[in-house]
Formats: sequence, C-alpha cells, structure tokens
Amino acid sequence: MPYRFRLTLACAIALILAAPAALAASQTTPAKPTTPAKLHPLTKFRPLKRHPIVALSFDDLPAAGDLRPWLTRVGILTQLTKELHAAHIKGVYGNVNAVDIPGDKDCQQALRDWRAAGMNIGNHTFSHPALDNVTAASYEANIARNEPYLRQFAGKSNWHWFRYPYLEEGNTVAKHEAVRKWLHAHHYRIEEVTLNFNDDDWSDAYFRCKDRNDTAAIAWLEASYMQNAAEYIPLEREEQQVAFGHEIPNVLLLHATEFTTLMLPRLIHMLQQQGFRFSTVPKVERNRAYHQDPAVGLPGGGSFTTMVLLAHHQSVYLPPHPPEPLNQLNSLCGGS
Ligand SMILES: [Zn+2]
Repeated sequence: MPYRFRLTLACAIALILAAPAALAASQTTPAKPTTPAKLHPLTKFRPLKRHPIVALSFDDLPAAGDLRPWLTRVGILTQLTKELHAAHIKGVYGNVNAVDIPGDKDCQQALRDWRAAGMNIGNHTFSHPALDNVTAASYEANIARNEPYLRQFAGKSNWHWFRYPYLEEGNTVAKHEAVRKWLHAHHYRIEEVTLNFNDDDWSDAYFRCKDRNDTAAIAWLEASYMQNAAEYIPLEREEQQVAFGHEIPNVLLLHATEFTTLMLPRLIHMLQQQGFRFSTVPKVERNRAYHQDPAVGLPGGGSFTTMVLLAHHQSVYLPPHPPEPLNQLNSLCGGS
C-alpha cells in the first residue's frame, strides 16, 4: 500500500523554532528557508564508526500487493527467504495483517514457511487501518484482533513488535500518546523506521507490465527502483545527523511484494557496496536513540527521524533532487 510519507531532503540545515503545523508542511516540500541568517552548511557527514548498520523489515505479510493468478504467497515468501539466506541475513521481521489468513491455506502455509526459515513476525494491525482516520480505541482493538494469529504462527518467538501502517503514529499528540500507552501496557516495542524509499509504489505497475509482458517497461521499473533507493537512503542517513547528532543503526522498511522480492538481491548488493552490515530489529533498536518518544502529531505519518526532528522543532532542507517517479508508475502499462 502506498505510504504517504515523503522524505525531507537536506544539504544545508536550518534549526528554526516554528509552529508544528508549519514545520510539517515545510517537511513535505523542499523549500527555501525563511530565516537564511540561521542557515549553515551541513557539517561533514559522520557515518557510524565501523559500518553503517541496517535491519531489513517487511510489511503486509502474508499477502503484500496483488497476486498474479499463477503465483502463490508460498512461492513469493519462499523466494524471499532464499534470498535473505543467500546473503546470510537472519531473524528478519515480517509484519503481519491477519485479515488475509482465515480460510486461505496458501497464506497460512506461507507464514508457516516464513517462520520455519528462521524469520520472525510482528504486529501490523489486523486490517491495516490508517491511524489518522480512526479513533485510538478502534485502532487498539484492531491491533488486539491480530494477536491470536500472531500467537498461532510465532511459536516461542517474540511477536510483540508493532509497525504502524502508513507510518502514521497519530495526527494529534493526544492520539499518538494514547496508542503508545496502550502498546506499552501490552508489552509491545515499536518497530520504528529510519530508511524508506516507498518500495511498494512499484508493485502495481509491475503487476500490469508483467500482464502485458512489456519487457522495456519492466526494465525501466527495475532501473527506477534502484535509482530511487540509491537517492533516498544516503539522504535519510544524513538527515539523522541533525536529529540525533550522528548516524544511528537503521531499520529499512520494505514490503513482501513480488517486485521487491525480485529486486532484493540487487538492493542487498547496493547496501553492501555502501558498507552496510545487516542486523535485526531488536538489536538495532537497543540503541538509545530509539528509546525516546517523539510526542508529536504528524498527519500522514513519517519516519522516526522525521518525528524526532519535529519534536525538536528542527527542519532539514536539502538540495533539489529527482523526485520519486509516481506519475510514471501510476500511468505505466495502462494504469490510470
Ligand atoms: Zn503496511
């Protein structure tokens, strides 16, 4: 499902005091700062001492994206775990919406296989509501409705990790705090995200282009997916310097779609070329940066870094950059 989050980009930074609403607006559109006297160049990038670190995480299991008629969820998740094993990546969290599980043997077996391959599962709500659109109480009930399925498939592994759909942690501070309080009372940790290049935005276009067997369009999808990842990931790492004073261990949001499964070996190779070492969500989020609660209302949601910046009344400005090619993705191969 398309994430509403769009990254704020930065090369020069302004630390400005402003109303949260104004900051939220400024973070969605690169803009010239109104207080140039307070701008200063971004200090030298300070990556993590030895290696940048990333935990991969996959949302919308067991049924992410559309399924072509001759494929199965078992087939897609089996391929995904093969690729993770080939790169020696273990203990990856797949965040589950159980709405697709009842009565669907393919989805049930796919989750069993995911677990048997040594991967973990977390809670992503039962039916993927957007927190902006519902009350905290209704949202909490949706999280709780997912739990019997997690208990069934998780075995003895820890499924008390929660990933917010659309990365929406509350459009008001009151809602943000209410859901956090409920999660804490029910022994959850929040699976925050620092890296996100909207990988799932390629899923529908790939579905249409495969249907037409349009090899030129598929080649463009593959190239633009990698280009988008290559542009956004370094910028999101740099943005952390402002929010945390240095880079922190990362969590990358991905989706268990057919297209991301196809692209994963190339994505892993790119991360390795950038020096990344792979870790797990529980290890990464031991870092104390993740222990803070950015108590803000952020309509449309955003990464953990974006919320921390907002909580600190900081804005990050980045130079012009190629935007995600959403129009092309939506119109390619007979789209809208
Ligand atoms: Zn999701």
